[in-house]
Amino acid sequence: MFDVAIVGAGVLGLAHAYHLARAGKKVAVFERSRKAEGASIRNFGMLWPIGQPLGERYETALRSREHWLHVLTEAKIWHEQTGSLHLAYADDEAAVLQEIDFPSTQWLEPTQVHEKAKGIRCENLRGGLWSTTEICVDPREVIASLPAFLTERYGVTFHFGTTVFGYEHPHLGTSSGMFDAAQLIVCSGHELTTLYPEALTAEKDLTVCKLQMMRTSPQPGSWRLGPMLAAGLTLAHYESFKSCPSLPALKARLHREFAEYERYGIHVLVSQNGHGELTLGDSHEYDDEISIFNNEQIDRLVLKYLATFLEAPDCQIASRWHGFYLKHKTQPWWIAHPDEHVTLVTGVGGAGMTLSFGLAEDVVEELG
Ligand SMILES: Cc1cc2nc3c(=O)[nH]c(=O)nc-3n(C[C@H](O)[C@H](O)[C@H](O)COP(=O)(O)OP(=O)(O)OC[C@H]3O[C@@H](n4cnc5c(N)ncnc54)[C@H](O)[C@@H]3O)c2cc1C
Repeated sequence: MFDVAIVGAGVLGLAHAYHLARAGKKVAVFERSRKAEGASIRNFGMLWPIGQPLGERYETALRSREHWLHVLTEAKIWHEQTGSLHLAYADDEAAVLQEIDFPSTQWLEPTQVHEKAKGIRCENLRGGLWSTTEICVDPREVIASLPAFLTERYGVTFHFGTTVFGYEHPHLGTSSGMFDAAQLIVCSGHELTTLYPEALTAEKDLTVCKLQMMRTSPQPGSWRLGPMLAAGLTLAHYESFKSCPSLPALKARLHREFAEYERYGIHVLVSQNGHGELTLGDSHEYDDEISIFNNEQIDRLVLKYLATFLEAPDCQIASRWHGFYLKHKTQPWWIAHPDEHVTLVTGVGGAGMTLSFGLAEDVVEELG
């Protein structure tokens, strides 16, 4: 009999397993694929507190960051405390970035930007917002490596290639047979119809989002980007910039000049993993807009915008993919209890890597 069974070996499932096992619980994780292949391996690997508005969300992101650092160090998994740089190429972008009042940030003049990061385009560069808190991980490596670490260090049991199809306390029905668990935590990502479909589909503010992504080959030699990068379009995307007085004017200009980008919810971010590859994206298409096919125009637009601020040695694309997540329209995450033994945790949108360990810590504490 397990104390807790967890559905899903994505970042949320793993973060819950970590906190539960550290609290002394006997934990088993069930993952339907042979290895996790959901949003948690398809992202930029950006642990990105600066995307969270100050207050509870930012604090959760910082707590999460501390747990991440502990786990990454203990498990000896590649990561880099790169920080981040939001670049301004217009006066209204610089105005927003200079208005933001975040701890651990600093406005940099163009010469300072060039000292901090490689390959930044000079023309029209007004400066950039440097932030020290962001950490880069390689999502494919980290999500593949953590299960072995959690097993060895904390005794967590993993059942890969095992679909969970039902739970009637304490019996868990899976494609590998029945198991018993006193509690169930469901971290099934954007899956709406397999487990607890009534609870998930009744929540009208949960929306599925599709994002297109690309990765380059390793950059030549020892070329390193430095900080992870964002630019003007991103300022309209993250809630952390919402309180900046100049944001409405910037948004109005972006709406006029970047209608195609707005149509596909495109803003452009760049990270570089330990192998030297650049991860690039992304777009945001919701619910009925979603097609299983990638839209080549989106990738073209991302690369066109990228070229306005980054001149990397090799921007040839080596791979393309898309991912999905579930986002709640008004809350940073969504937690539900369909009965006293079951907790659903999802709806964390584009910040699941960033918030995971902090959010899971709170869920586990509440379960007692
Ligand atoms: C393209 C992209 C870029 C992103 N970039 C970032 C970023 O840089 N930083 C950031 O903070 N966040 C980012 N995000 C968001 C982040 O990746 C997600 O919020 C997070 O990965 C969600 O984790 P999860 O564990 O809930 O879901 P998932 O990773 O999707 O995991 C759910 C798992 O549950 C399994 N499962 C589902 N149903 C069952 C079942 N019945 N039985 C067994 N297993 C089941 C699935 O197979 C899957 O492996 C990005 C997301 C995408 C898609």
